[in-house]
Amino acid sequence: MRILTQQPPNLALIEAAFPGRPAGVIYAYGQTIYNPDGINVIPMLVEHETVHSVRQERLGVDQWWARYCEDAPWRYREELYAHVREYQVALQLASVKLVKGQGSPRLERVQLRAAERKLILARSARRLVAPLYGYGPERHFERAKRDIMELSVCGDVTML
Ligand SMILES: [Zn+2]
Repeated sequence: MRILTQQPPNLALIEAAFPGRPAGVIYAYGQTIYNPDGINVIPMLVEHETVHSVRQERLGVDQWWARYCEDAPWRYREELYAHVREYQVALQLASVKLVKGQGSPRLERVQLRAAERKLILARSARRLVAPLYGYGPERHFERAKRDIMELSVCGDVTML
């Protein structure tokens, strides 16, 4: 995906649905990530926005955005897919450790401890239920953790 430091083309729609957004929000619109505040778009975020992008292209970008803005349970579902991907990537990145032995240090994949996995899950779930998304009061942290765990075994969430 390409990343542009500018507002998304559908800013008016987003502004009407989500007034008072905090700084640093980024938006997928088709195959572009709009990053108006120029934040550091780390790989985990690119993966998140790529999930939105693939699903937007499938449904029609403007149709996706229209439903995203007006249908809170559907929005939760779309964000769940993207946060599951974030969780999967975060697990992968965390499981690669720098091992120093004889010779030069090398990267090795290690088994994550349960506590590490729990922390990564909690971080993803907290992001999923962030007030920014405005799902209403029914989306709780515990439910988000369960939903992410359930879907994370599905592999490629863009195919769901
Ligand atoms: Zn998202």
